Amino acid sequence: MPTVVIHENLIKRICNELKKSYEYGGVIFGVKERDHVKYLMAYFPPQPKAGYTCVFDSKAVLISRRALDEAYEIYEVPLLEMDWIHTHPNIGAFFSKIDRDTLKEIAVYKKNIIGIVVDPFRYEIKAFTILDGQIKEIPVKIEDFTIDEKFYNAIPFVHHNIYINTIRKYGALKEFHITTPYEIRVVKSIPAVRREEGIKDLGELKEYIDIKLNELREEIRKYKEELLQTIIRVNIEL
Ligand SMILES: [Zn+2]
Repeated sequence: MPTVVIHENLIKRICNELKKSYEYGGVIFGVKERDHVKYLMAYFPPQPKAGYTCVFDSKAVLISRRALDEAYEIYEVPLLEMDWIHTHPNIGAFFSKIDRDTLKEIAVYKKNIIGIVVDPFRYEIKAFTILDGQIKEIPVKIEDFTIDEKFYNAIPFVHHNIYINTIRKYGALKEFHITTPYEIRVVKSIPAVRREEGIKDLGELKEYIDIKLNELREEIRKYKEELLQTIIRVNIEL
């Protein structure tokens, strides 16, 4: 039976950030090791409707999948398992009928799917999977585990990539959460500028440089003119 290990800081942060009156649904990312999955990042995209039991949003899944694929291309780390997480605000962690049906629906697209439910108020966490067609609860461990060094760059990359694409796809004003056990302060921007974004961003950069260059040219022209006027005046006075 698979075991679920969730990083202690990840759960603490999820419970802090998502102590809200309505349910949140999202994607949880983990590293697979033999028969257990170690989870170290969660993404709660903008929710379609407050209070509505939220399933995997297909846009959010695409954003997540793409971030993982690009991280794999750059860092060549076997990132990551994607599973389902949702919150139960102050009603306890359990799997409702809808949750069971949802897990079965997702299982069509992802084998060995794991569903995690968190009550951020009671700090309760449970995990479920499908074994022989039956929904089974599986053991959850909360640990302060360490990860291989190779993930140190990949995680901020995935974080940044999801962040940018969430704003692009949902707009800048929507609330969303990308949670990791670690502080993510500085993100390398170079790997994020790739493919069509790269071209778009370079286009914007070129436009910006052109504007700045024209401003500089105008300034130089004014100085030249002033200098010329001064020379003329000096000549006249002499
Ligand atoms: Zn539920």
